[in-house]
Amino acid sequence: MPPSTRESETLAPRGARRSLRRRLAPPTLVLAYHRVVPSIGADVNQLCVSAENFAEHLRWLRAACRLIGPREFLGQLGRGPLAGVALDGGRPRVLVTFDDGYADNVLHALPILTENGAQAILFATSGAVDSTEAFWWDALEQIVYRGHPSASGWRLADVAIPADLPPAEAYTALHRLVLPLDSQSRAAALADLADQGGVTTRADEHSRPVTRDELLAWAAAGCDIGAHTRTHVQLSAQRDDQVAIEIAGARRDLQQLTGLAIDTLAYPFGTGGDFDERAEAAARAAGYRCAFANRAGNARWARNHYALPRHLVRNWSGQEFAARFMTWCPP
Ligand SMILES: [Zn+2]
Repeated sequence: MPPSTRESETLAPRGARRSLRRRLAPPTLVLAYHRVVPSIGADVNQLCVSAENFAEHLRWLRAACRLIGPREFLGQLGRGPLAGVALDGGRPRVLVTFDDGYADNVLHALPILTENGAQAILFATSGAVDSTEAFWWDALEQIVYRGHPSASGWRLADVAIPADLPPAEAYTALHRLVLPLDSQSRAAALADLADQGGVTTRADEHSRPVTRDELLAWAAAGCDIGAHTRTHVQLSAQRDDQVAIEIAGARRDLQQLTGLAIDTLAYPFGTGGDFDERAEAAARAAGYRCAFANRAGNARWARNHYALPRHLVRNWSGQEFAARFMTWCPP
């Protein structure tokens, strides 16, 4: 920071210092949503936010913060500390993002975004675009909750999951086993489990991945498309060559599919254990301008643009959302 600012901060009491810092450089928070749906059914992974709650979140954000679009966010990255001196009382900047690439982002979230003048990033799993198959975690949910394994229970590799285990526990146990697999082994494991449970998995109209035409409609509304790898693997568990293919391949695929620039990446799962330095290096090498994780923090001051923080949002009422937001961004 320039000397004048540092001097002011040194002389001012802590509360005033914070307030000054905030006026000069309000925080930028990035929100991570997954799905927006008209009504919430079974939602084992807590990915869904109701359209009603999402609209409440957006209305509150519009009043209390400044919603920024992907282009403005990217423009701020790497600029000096005073480049964005606030002229609006230091309201936090907020960028909305969606992970995975569900069609409901376009069908249900986009009208609410548009209504509130907001532009968001949709991080699409490139291999799922136009697919009629369910995302793997949804397929696993269908298998466990609808399936009837034999008396000896579910079997995966050398592990047996008792048939009388409550479905939520069986799902968690199987999810843990499937998570680190590469996409081919994962497909084989799911096919085997579906067979054991006598279930045919499919993506229905409510949980299907986005189509190319829907991605184009999303972009035509002023929103951005980012990548979420090719097959939504846990990158930290993959071989070096696979990490590069998942990350660079997704950018190439989505650019070819849509004809649009793909500048941003979100790591699948996104916690510190799910991606590593190899993934960050691959994101850099592939030409992404930044990459997002799923851990709390102010993206404005993040030094590492390849592990930018985001706040995961659940199906909270407007009131609960506002209360949570204030803990992320205290006055
Ligand atoms: Zn994801």
